[in-house]
Amino acid sequence: MPIDLRSDTVTRPTPAMREAMHKAPVGDDVFGDDPSINAFQEAVAARAGYPAALFFPTGTQSNLAALMSHCQRGDEFIAGQNAHLYKYEAGGAAVLGSIQPQPIQHEEDGTLSLDRIAAAIKQDDFHYACTRLVALENTFHGRVIPQKYLNEVTAFAADRGLATHLDGARLFNASVATGLPLSSLCNGFESVSLCFSKGLGAPVGSVLVGSDEFIATAKRIRKMLGGGMRQAGILAAGCHYALDHHVQRLADDHCHARLLADGLRDGLAEVKGAEVLSCDTNMVFVRFPEQYCADLQTHMAAHDVLMAPSQKTRLVTHLDVSREDVQKILDVMAAFFRA
Ligand SMILES: *Cc1c(COP(=O)(O)O)cnc(C)c1O
Repeated sequence: MPIDLRSDTVTRPTPAMREAMHKAPVGDDVFGDDPSINAFQEAVAARAGYPAALFFPTGTQSNLAALMSHCQRGDEFIAGQNAHLYKYEAGGAAVLGSIQPQPIQHEEDGTLSLDRIAAAIKQDDFHYACTRLVALENTFHGRVIPQKYLNEVTAFAADRGLATHLDGARLFNASVATGLPLSSLCNGFESVSLCFSKGLGAPVGSVLVGSDEFIATAKRIRKMLGGGMRQAGILAAGCHYALDHHVQRLADDHCHARLLADGLRDGLAEVKGAEVLSCDTNMVFVRFPEQYCADLQTHMAAHDVLMAPSQKTRLVTHLDVSREDVQKILDVMAAFFRA
């Protein structure tokens, strides 16, 4: 199996996870009869500190259902220019929800300044769409968004009568990195979307959490977005296994990312134009000089290391990257730059 640094979505279910999936009791979830889905939804809701939760096949669909639950046709949501739910979800909110995105520029640290948010809020005037929601993302490109800032934004939004949604695709990484419980990181947000198919290692699955009323709306929207899944407890059981067994080990991924970043800083010291740009939670960003990118990619792939070198290469550690793998990556790369 190659060492794949392109994303933490590339993990494969472990034998123990497959066993849990194999043994999962199932029923028709559209009737609410799947015990594995029900147990998983309850466990996630409790962990995040919300009354209700809803299982989705993907984070994209979970985010879209959240946006469509918060916003009506002709409303708008404020999000970062580089937020996943604005930039990388095929314009779903606009296309399927008739919701206008109002993207704003990020600060250096990935946050959206209160000033920029305030300036983007529309007055009550028939010329404008109705600003309804502020959506944030944590972690953002691996970076943990500071808790104090999140509290400021949720308080500010509440003050301005806006709803808040958190795209917490990698919120468990933030929880492990900060030592704060998931519920603290969710605090103040009306809805949160969590992915189990990233570093947590499940093959499929995201969960949206919120109030009973909000989740009832989201369930109707989920139906509209493609319907319910039936005996999907097989999938939920993989996610539940990840919730029980793969959260604390995210600390290993963070440690491996640091080892990788440190090793690359040493290894690339002599390579003009190469630079480790940042290392946060399970992501390392590295600049490789343009002239090396194609050959480096071929060389790494020839040695079973998958990455896409660029001016801003994202290297992601996860369940299927071990400490030994990190050393191998560094050795293989060193050989390239020695040659
Ligand atoms: C991956 C990701 C999503 C979407 O999840 P999918 O399951 O791939 O649809 C949403 N937000 C962020 C920040 C992500 O990284």
